[in-house]
Amino acid sequence: MFSLRSIFLYLLVLFLLIGGVFVFVSARLSENVFFDQIITERTRLIGAVGEAIFSSEDLVSSNNRNIATDTIRKALPFSKEQEETGVLYFRFIHTDTQQILVSSAPSEEEKFFTRLPLIGDNQGDVIVSSIRDRVEITYRGVEPYALWMAISRDSSFGALALLTETLLPLTIGMVLIIVIIMYVVAYFAISLPLKKLRGVIEKTSKGEFDVSLPERSQGPFRDIYKKFNVMIGSISTVRERDEFISSMKSDFITTAAHQLRTPLSAIKWAIKIILDQDFGPLNIDQRTILMKGYESNNRMIRLVNDLLDVDRIDSGRLQYDFHPVSIVNLINSVIVVVTPRMIERKISLIFLDKEKTFPDVRADSEKLRQVIQNLLDNAIKYSYPGGKVTIVIEERKNNILAVSVNDSGIGIPKDQQEKIFGKFFRAANARKLQTDGSGLGLYIMQQIIKKHNGEVSFKSEPGKGTTFTFTVPVYTDN
Ligand code: ADP
Repeated sequence: MFSLRSIFLYLLVLFLLIGGVFVFVSARLSENVFFDQIITERTRLIGAVGEAIFSSEDLVSSNNRNIATDTIRKALPFSKEQEETGVLYFRFIHTDTQQILVSSAPSEEEKFFTRLPLIGDNQGDVIVSSIRDRVEITYRGVEPYALWMAISRDSSFGALALLTETLLPLTIGMVLIIVIIMYVVAYFAISLPLKKLRGVIEKTSKGEFDVSLPERSQGPFRDIYKKFNVMIGSISTVRERDEFISSMKSDFITTAAHQLRTPLSAIKWAIKIILDQDFGPLNIDQRTILMKGYESNNRMIRLVNDLLDVDRIDSGRLQYDFHPVSIVNLINSVIVVVTPRMIERKISLIFLDKEKTFPDVRADSEKLRQVIQNLLDNAIKYSYPGGKVTIVIEERKNNILAVSVNDSGIGIPKDQQEKIFGKFFRAANARKLQTDGSGLGLYIMQQIIKKHNGEVSFKSEPGKGTTFTFTVPVYTDN
């Protein structure tokens, strides 16, 4: 089993190994070629000198030195012309006096050579150094004399250059091959499995859990795939259980709401008859108590209606009947309904556009009424006595009308604003101020506006107020 880490390690080791072999081989090759050349030259020269002079003292005589020089020249593989143009120079140097006995260097080079350090006593008999564009070889040939050679880099490294010329593209080629191999391995061992994993994760993020990854595949992802499949299995199970529980819950709520509706209507009707004093006069206390009961019953009816609406929305059973609707008329009619509550709570309302003409919107008037009523109810409910509610209609481009309801109320705490359209959500400050509320109004409203192809947005400053805005498209014939 390969782990992701081990694959990287294998590749790294492979890379280092191949690189190392290359460096080693090229170093060995260049070294061998170079030293082979030196040794050949040296053997030939020593031989040549040896043949020409029999004892080192003989070199003291200038005649013998000339013989040696000629012999060496002849032994060298270069022509005289080449020597003079700097392909190869040689010197015989007296190691004690550092005196140059024989030289083939042009006079310009002479000064430079004499400044060169001569062979030390303890050094080997061959010293190779590379100065400027020359390779210099110094060795003690015939004691106490040293033979010094400077071979032009071009000529000495001719073979080496050839080698480098072939080695360099070879090395580049190898590196390219390694890179390609690494890419292919990385693609099949990492990228492709990751792509598969990503595809499956994308599907699951969209709620598709009927997916799995191939567990038979080899490589580092096999284990991950296995674990991922197990995880998907668990999520599916949890989801199915959740769906079952939530459908049971919603069935229960719907059934309970349906069952409650009829008795609640009956209670409302009964209290209303007594309140209307159809069965005789009521004293103040009786009336007050009955009014409270009537109000509470109304709240229960509203809650039951909200629950049934949510059920219809969630199951897609809420039917819409779109037609041209005058938004101003609709708002005015809702204002009539909420006015008693506004008076009761000492809240003033400003609706400057109440007599303006706007194009009709494409809406289901009853659903849109519910939206406006919910916004005004909330604005009144979450305002302090003496507060102010303002309604503004704005005609936007692309045939859209925007309705804003602004209040100077408690506002929505910043950290809870993102949850505001969630089912049953009520902000902490709202719960504190108003115990009455289901937390379903905004959810229902948002769903209704969506069905109208509109949008809902809000701005709220805690302690200062809130503005809710919804948009609806203008009615057009097509
Ligand atoms: P509720 O029945 O609680 O009013 P809604 O769905 O209509 O339910 O509103 C959800 C929550 O949003 C409210 O409980 C309240 O916290 C907050 N909210 C809505 N409108 C306003 C407003 N005008 N000012 C302050 N808070 C508001």
